[in-house]
Amino acid sequence: MNSMKAFFVRRMLLSRKVPKDCENPLEGWMAIKARETLKKSGFKLQDYERKDTISREDFEEYQLLRFREQMKYAEAEAPHYRNLYKDAGIRPEDIRTYEDLERVPFTYSHELAEKQLAFCGVSATKLAKEFTTTGTTGTRKRIGFTSGDLVDKVDIIASALSNIGMRKGDSLHIMFPAVSAWDPSLLMSAACKVLGYGSSTCTDTDIKVQMEVMREAKTTHIIGLPSFIYRVTALMGKETDLKALKIKKIISTSEPLSESVRGALEDAWGCKVLDVWGMTEMGLACAVECDEQDGLHTDEANILFEVIDPETGKHVPPGQEGELVVSGLNSQGTILLRYRTSDTVSMQDPPCKCGMSFNKKLNKPRGRMDMQFKVGMGYKVYPLLFDEVLFKESDVVEYQLRITKEGYRDVLTFEVETLVPGDELKERIISMVSDVREISDGIAEDLIDIPRVEFVEVGSMEYSAKAKKIEDLRENYD
Ligand SMILES: [Zn+2]
Repeated sequence: MNSMKAFFVRRMLLSRKVPKDCENPLEGWMAIKARETLKKSGFKLQDYERKDTISREDFEEYQLLRFREQMKYAEAEAPHYRNLYKDAGIRPEDIRTYEDLERVPFTYSHELAEKQLAFCGVSATKLAKEFTTTGTTGTRKRIGFTSGDLVDKVDIIASALSNIGMRKGDSLHIMFPAVSAWDPSLLMSAACKVLGYGSSTCTDTDIKVQMEVMREAKTTHIIGLPSFIYRVTALMGKETDLKALKIKKIISTSEPLSESVRGALEDAWGCKVLDVWGMTEMGLACAVECDEQDGLHTDEANILFEVIDPETGKHVPPGQEGELVVSGLNSQGTILLRYRTSDTVSMQDPPCKCGMSFNKKLNKPRGRMDMQFKVGMGYKVYPLLFDEVLFKESDVVEYQLRITKEGYRDVLTFEVETLVPGDELKERIISMVSDVREISDGIAEDLIDIPRVEFVEVGSMEYSAKAKKIEDLRENYD
């Protein structure tokens, strides 16, 4: 990022062209980007009163245009696609409608893991940033970004921050302790800079240090991992009135946000908590909630989202669940077109009550498939399911779940970090967990033992951002 001269970035950023009186800067930014691209291509746009609006129809023309351009780019520069499209007998100009997309072959994460260079549009020396991710299959994938890709990312983050309500004079506290693989704070502080917002970054796991930095920076907005913000809240909330900090909004990112945690944070800080969703393959920050808190607005200017039936590969009707398939519309580094994510999602058609008129929303995802385990009757359990239950108890600071097997029964042991261990808390946790349908059916059928609780002292669980919340120690399971 340092190599990117600030003035150069500022000139390229469309987020700076969004009018000050635009009510939905995120959508305004997407409209401007789509209109500029369509105009350059000679497309005849409908008439609009404002430059920060566009119809869904025209916006989809932009997406299809960019998809065709990316297909051409991929054919020319990335061997994987050249062969793929040749074998399928498909040409970029064949893609005229959303339905036509169904004819374009999918790409898969294992292919990306096996031959990452064949997916890259530029030579390795032209990449400004690369990072490695272990995905659903545990295979390592390397994703490359050019400086142009990073500028696009800064642009979307900047528009999202102003959509969240940040204005000049506000300051964002970036709280990502113990994150090393890909430091998101660089892009976020760059985004703050271009729009003239303040920012502070603190990677310390010591919550007192975090509080100090926030006070000094006169923080108005916080972004970070919900598990860590919750930890700060549970431990500091007892001695400090967090509302006195007058935080305007908290943004939760990189981990699934449970409604229990959201409620606890909103009560303690006295502000709304908004969720952000991203995929490492797409450079994170792909969707963000608005104040309605009913689905996440997606970055459709850079990503084309499709929801398909994983069996047939066909599009599902709007609102229906299916597998998320994404295509990067402007990526220069790693090119992903019709990339199957294995994530189960559903999407909502516009408009949104917040005033956004053409943008599709992603319904809140439940967390990635790779975090799921089957217990008892074959029900899938994942961290968010237990977050909902355990964080209803304000005395629970953090927990970890161990799954073991005794005889034919699955045993769920919750290791709970708390300041006030005791039988009452233990009973409440056991009763709440036993009431979860995925667990209660298994208990009724005698396939799951009564859940167990072990208390640990606060501070004894080392905070780490990507700690496995569920640890499966059973030898054989499917
Ligand atoms: Zn909205």
